[in-house]
Amino acid sequence: MDTLSHFVLALLGGYALVKGLGQKHGLLPLAALAFLSVLIDADHFWFRRLDMHNVFVVGFLALSAIAFSFLKKARLRDYAAILAVMVCGHLLIDMGYGQGVALFYPLTRGIYALPQVGVEMTSALQVHTGDIDKLSEVVISPMGVALSAYAGVIFLMIGARRLG
Ligand SMILES: [Zn+2]
Repeated sequence: MDTLSHFVLALLGGYALVKGLGQKHGLLPLAALAFLSVLIDADHFWFRRLDMHNVFVVGFLALSAIAFSFLKKARLRDYAAILAVMVCGHLLIDMGYGQGVALFYPLTRGIYALPQVGVEMTSALQVHTGDIDKLSEVVISPMGVALSAYAGVIFLMIGARRLG
């Protein structure tokens, strides 16, 4: 996916996360974090695509958020957590669009991509009569799966914060 789309999706995801959590971060810090999340694409230029498109980058950012939490640095904790979610979304989008990513590099060079998902709908009446014939079939593209998973990560973060 192109850089501008990655930036816009990161900014939208970060904005949704901040609003969902009731935080008061401005648009400028969110734009800076969205820009940082796009920088993992730098591995296209001087590294192999493997080096920064993996879960360990997200893990490092999540651990940084936890460390800042222990250090009572609330703003840095929030920024690290928002950046972790943005990078997670970046990876999901690259998995849904294009060749996929080496999610567990350097442990393995295996490339992971999201599948296309088909959903069939039948009526409850047809299930009871045993005469099952699908009413409609919806096919969700890998990009749709990626965006849904990104939204799911944001909702999970909001839910986890509200429970904890
Ligand atoms: Zn990328």
